[in-house]
Formats: sequence, structure tokens, C-alpha cells
Amino acid sequence: LRKLVVITGASSGLGLSCAETLAKTGKYFVVMACRDVEKGKRVAKERGLPDGSYTVMKLELASLQSVRDFVANLKAFKSARPLTHLICNAAVYKPTDPEPVWTDDGFEMSMGVNHFGHFLLVNLLLDDMSRAKGARVCIVGSITGNTNTVGGGLVYPQANLGNLAGFEKGATKPVAMADGKPFFGAKAYKDSKVCNMMTVSELHRRYHEDTGIVFSSMYPGCIAETALFREKRQWFRKLFPVFMKYVTGGYVGEKEAGERLAQVIDDPQCNKSGVYWSWNGGAQTVGRWAPDGKPRGAGGSGGEIFENQQSDAVRDIETAKKMWALSKKAVGLT
Ligand code: NDP
Repeated sequence: LRKLVVITGASSGLGLSCAETLAKTGKYFVVMACRDVEKGKRVAKERGLPDGSYTVMKLELASLQSVRDFVANLKAFKSARPLTHLICNAAVYKPTDPEPVWTDDGFEMSMGVNHFGHFLLVNLLLDDMSRAKGARVCIVGSITGNTNTVGGGLVYPQANLGNLAGFEKGATKPVAMADGKPFFGAKAYKDSKVCNMMTVSELHRRYHEDTGIVFSSMYPGCIAETALFREKRQWFRKLFPVFMKYVTGGYVGEKEAGERLAQVIDDPQCNKSGVYWSWNGGAQTVGRWAPDGKPRGAGGSGGEIFENQQSDAVRDIETAKKMWALSKKAVGLT
């Protein structure tokens, strides 16, 4: 029987590439959890995901009700079969917005989608997944949340949850930022990624031993072409991949990034909980730059996987505990 994997944000970028990789192994049935179901269906066909290897289901992470509806629909769809794998991948990045945009529940959009929506989703699925053998949950992280790296530490602004004053106030309109300070889009994304990575550590600490579920986070490398950067200006979108490729060496093509995420789900080597996975070495797409600017794909992993160290901010257990408790409250779990 194929394993059942849910991938959020599977209609684009990393999520789509991972969905394609896993579906084509023949070992997984992929539930593509997308805010735009028609788009999900169209891109799955375009990428040639084999018929019978996937389905597309509605999930709007900017609405807690939609998260609850998704969980109910998933349950009906899979009947008694437990969910074996969950990949929380969807994200928005709003670096240029001067004002915050709000989710249905009044959260600032990037924190609401990237963190709160996924936080509720994981919590609602834990029980079911604990019945599965070899269950794994991966929440996609980022070095942007890691103050001990160039991408995360030196590039302004830095992630900083402060003392979570914003979460304490409920994290809803007009409170835009986790630390309660005025809205700053680029920082809100980074803060949400820190919350993602802290959530993994907390899930591991709280549930790994009892449930056997393997919880992990990963940084895929910089996939500079994805739609994540859609709000950046045109010159940035042209130059950023080149910069990442030739200057920082952190560039990875979409196909290979998808393979990396799939590796965290499938590789027996990644059966360790509480790990933040990263890859060493040059991605294979380096040097395969094409005139149209589209990566050509790698067909194999170029980098070597390793257990990366979380930043001090992510490893701050007291803040993580507080973040967990306040997030539960914010999404209505207590
Ligand atoms: P994309 O923008 O290509 O993909 C993001 C996905 O999230 C899309 O499928 C999008 O749907 C979906 N999404 C956005 N908002 C919502 C919502 N409200 N509800 C449900 N789904 C939503 O970006 P990437 O593939 O680059 O990003 C994927 C992950 O990788 C993110 O977690 C990001 O933080 C992480 N990451 C990316 C890096 C990079 O260099 N690109 C580096 C490090 C981490 P739709 O298709 O409808 O737009």
C-alpha cells in the first residue's frame, strides 16, 4: 500500500517539485493541499504526475476554518487509513507591502499563513498520524530565520520574536508583529520561519517519544526563481539567482530542491527526529544556467545532506514554550 503524504502549497515551486518527485517514485499517494484547486490540477497535469498518484484538495491557510475543513475532508477521503507524512511547505513573503494584510482570523498574512495555519494543521493531524508506522512531519524552514548564517544573520532585518508581546495580545489586528512592534513585512516572514522551526523542536520534545512521529525541519537552499519572490522588483528577480549562484553558492534549482525535501520524507537516513536538515556542496544546477533563466534541473542530488545547527534564537526553549502556548490560544486549541 502506498504511503499517504499531504503537501501544503503543492501548486508551485518547492512544494510542486517535491509532489512530482514523490508521486513518481510510485511509493506515495500525494494529497496536494492548495488554496487554488484548479491551479493545482493544472500544474499536476503539466508536470506529468501519474494518474492515480495524487489528488488536489482545498486548503486556504489564511483561514482557520479552511484548515479545519481540510482536515475533515482528508479524513473522509482516506477513511480509516492513517496519514503517514505531512509536509508544511506553503508560505507567503511580503517584503514590499507598506501595510499589513490580514487573514480571515485577523492575523498578519505571513505569520498567519506560514505559522498559525500550519500550527493548527499539524496539531489537528497528530492523533491520526500517531497511528501510522514510520510517520514523518517536515516543516520547511529557512536560513532567514537563522541568525548564525549569512543569509539569516547579516541580511537586514533579523528575525526577532522579542518577548512575544504581539502574540500575548492575541496576534490579531491591529497587532501585526510577534514582538508587538510596527509592521515590517520582510521581518514578519523571518519571524514566521523562526516560529516554524521552533514548532518542530517543540513537537519533537512533546510528542516524538510517545507517538514515534519523526519531526524535522529543512532548508532547501536558495531557490531564487520561485514565486516566493513575486513581490520583488523585476531587476531583483533577474539578478538574485545569479548572485546566489556565483557569489554565495547557496543557489539550488527547483527540481533539486524538491528532491531534497522528498529525501527528508523518504530517506531512511532521515528517520531521526528533531533535526534541521541542510545540504553541503554545490548544487548540480550550477553551471547549467540557461539563457531563458530557467534552471534545467539536476536529476540527482548535488549536495550532501547534514544535520545543521539551529540558531540561538530557535534554540531558546523558554521563548519556544511561550510561542507554543500563545499559538495554541491564538488558533483556538485551548
Ligand atoms: P512559492 O511561492 O513558489 O510557493 C508557495 C506555495 O504556497 C504556493 O503553492 C502558494 O500557492 C502556497 N500558498 C501561499 N499562500 C497560501 C495560502 N494562503 N494558503 C495555502 N497555500 C498558500 O514559494 P517557494 O516554493 O519558494 O516556497 C516554498 C517553501 O520554501 C516556503 O516555506 C519558503 O519559506 C521556503 N523557502 C524558500 C526558499 C527560496 O529560496 N525560494 C528558501 C528557503 C525556504 P499558489 O500556487 O496558489 O500561489
